[in-house]
Amino acid sequence: MAGGTTQVIDAELAQVRQRLVGIEGVKLEASVRELVRVSVYVTEQKQVTIHLMFPENYPHQPIVVELKSKSLSFKLLDGLCKMCDEEARKNVGQRQVVLMVMFVKTFLQENPLCVCNEEISYIKRNLVSEDDKVILKQKTSQIVIKVKQGSYFMNLRVTVPNDYPVHQVQCEIEDCNFPPLLKTFFQAQAIEISRQCVQPPLKKKPKDPPFQPKPSLRPVCEFLIRDCCKRYPKEACQLCKDNVLSEDPEAPTREPKKRLERVYCGHLFHSGCLNTYMKTPPFIGGKKCPGCGCQIFHEKWKVSPELAEARWAHKQARQRELAEVVDFLE
Ligand SMILES: [Zn+2]
Ligand SMILES: [Zn+2]
Repeated sequence: MAGGTTQVIDAELAQVRQRLVGIEGVKLEASVRELVRVSVYVTEQKQVTIHLMFPENYPHQPIVVELKSKSLSFKLLDGLCKMCDEEARKNVGQRQVVLMVMFVKTFLQENPLCVCNEEISYIKRNLVSEDDKVILKQKTSQIVIKVKQGSYFMNLRVTVPNDYPVHQVQCEIEDCNFPPLLKTFFQAQAIEISRQCVQPPLKKKPKDPPFQPKPSLRPVCEFLIRDCCKRYPKEACQLCKDNVLSEDPEAPTREPKKRLERVYCGHLFHSGCLNTYMKTPPFIGGKKCPGCGCQIFHEKWKVSPELAEARWAHKQARQRELAEVVDFLE
């Protein structure tokens, strides 16, 4: 039989049945001497089933707690279980069932970031360096991330909504010293990446499985930290192989030909290098990025191969004319 004196346990079970009725999100599923099972629901992603077992000598021993959840990570449950154990130890001698249930419920309510616990671990392990900072703000369900690369930095504030991952994270670049052109692109693309995690594509392929919203924290951070902040300070021009961003963020180059251009694939170029490349044949099949082979899309050079060809021919003809004039003058 279960430990503890049966009278003590029966009295507590009677109290548990009374006290847990009418608490929002709490459902008593079983309450017998061998096991009390309670489900706690805060949101779809924040739900836990608590198993409580009375040990020998209860309540002079801490109650035994096991946690199960379909949505929360194993690591988080393991940590929470240890916290429950500590809490139970503090309350030996008293009735512990209701205390434990309320402890778990309060934890889920006060730690909204628990739903992205695994993603946060991933960010800390794989995306940031030792000097960078990842600060969790459970009260406001936000994560502040401060990352650096060389003399460049980026400070992010990510808000995790209550119904995450059904809705996407809101990610804001609070501060950074990247050129405005890049910052605008970083921010817009981050919004787009997070949107794509939760909204089905407009063109659905018939064989695709039904769309499911995906967690957006990790993809957004991979993009902003790994693909932007850590990457661009070191990025070379795909044509001349010189660095594109200035060594000193406060002193960007004034030379027009050395100004930064970013193309669709994300590679960087010097304005002058890209201009020459885009206006030089071959044009057939469109101009490709030498770095990755992607077609180059850019506002400034939005011309068809035919038009580019015509312009090239015109320029060549003009140069021949000039040369002839020069010949004539000699
Ligand atoms: Zn260049
Ligand atoms: Zn490229």
